[in-house]
Amino acid sequence: MKIAILPGDGIGPEIVAEAVKVLKALDLRFESETALVGGCAYDAHGHPLPEATLKLAKEADAVLFGAVGDWKYDTLDRPLRPEQAILGLRKNLGLFANFRPAICYPQLVSASSLRPELVAGLDLLIIRELTGDIYFGQPRGRRIAPDGAFAGAEEAFDTMRYTRPEIERIAHVAFKAARQRGRRVTSVDKANVLETFQFWKDVVTEVGKQYPDVALDHMYVDNAAMQLVKEPKKFDVIVTGNMFGDILSDAAAMLTGSIGMLPSASLNASNQGLYEPSHGSAPDIAGKGVANPLATILSAAMMLRFSLNQAEAADRIESAVQAVLASGLRTGDIHAEGCKRVGTREMGDAVVAAITKKTSKG
Ligand code: NAD
Repeated sequence: MKIAILPGDGIGPEIVAEAVKVLKALDLRFESETALVGGCAYDAHGHPLPEATLKLAKEADAVLFGAVGDWKYDTLDRPLRPEQAILGLRKNLGLFANFRPAICYPQLVSASSLRPELVAGLDLLIIRELTGDIYFGQPRGRRIAPDGAFAGAEEAFDTMRYTRPEIERIAHVAFKAARQRGRRVTSVDKANVLETFQFWKDVVTEVGKQYPDVALDHMYVDNAAMQLVKEPKKFDVIVTGNMFGDILSDAAAMLTGSIGMLPSASLNASNQGLYEPSHGSAPDIAGKGVANPLATILSAAMMLRFSLNQAEAADRIESAVQAVLASGLRTGDIHAEGCKRVGTREMGDAVVAAITKKTSKG
């Protein structure tokens, strides 16, 4: 097993170090190599995704990624900004399916911004299409408006587009995932306004006929946003496009108490994947040793399960995280009265201790 480790910027190096520590505690045989990505890669090599980093990622079975970005790079030309590294990796590795589970751990129910009865037992999976939509559609740019009410004024534009194969493959991923869970898929679109999403809805409906054992319903994205905060437990698998998925998955993240708890996986057709926390590089807390490393540690568990065929090791990480939460340890973002506040490193150490304790008990 070969893992490319790309810690990135901000809190990235701090949280990835904890996930690597946890992986090492499992006594698995894996090779790993670390490389620069994002703003730190731009500083060192003049590009957020240097050739050597891309090569390492392509050759690995899986990529463990921290986060990239910092406000100080916001004035760079767009192709040189740290976030472009993620888009480049997704594109070059063909990572079209993004899995974002939102699970509310019983110990963290009170950290959610919703009432406990609305989130207790929440377990939903958002599957976001990752390589199409308005984020990649061409043409895009700035120009002088050629027509319309403001013809002659400066304007910017992007293009929303999806091809049939792109929709079909993400729909298959969603229906297959639902079969392993509650057998319900909600496809989120904006078919009432956007041609692209009427097409999305039609194609998902067609694919759904091949999965008669999975219930399919459709929801407009504005309603989905409302239902996510009103009655989140009614969802099982949500499948949606790149932009709607980006927004809804962050909303779902907060339901669970903290974005610092949410792992994510981005997979291609051969199960090679990039695993990263759902949050960003959190420049506001970088270097302070207070970031929650659990989303990254849980991303490493997803990596073991989906790309490295080590489901048992993944289970061990996930139960160790549960045990640590049950013992009352909390980083600042999930802290509650009566719990012990710990930093990034202590949280990682506690997960390692829970794993080794279980191992020594046999
Ligand atoms: P963010 O997710 O970095 O931070 C949002 C808030 O959540 C901040 O208050 C932060 O302190 C907190 N937070 C995030 N992760 C945390 C953790 N593990 N533990 C405790 N608190 C945590 O989003 P942002 O502030 O909008 O963006 C910051 C930078 O990250 C920007 O440059 C943005 O472009 C980049 N970004 C990168 C990714 C990525 O690498 N995949 C994703 C989103 C944003």
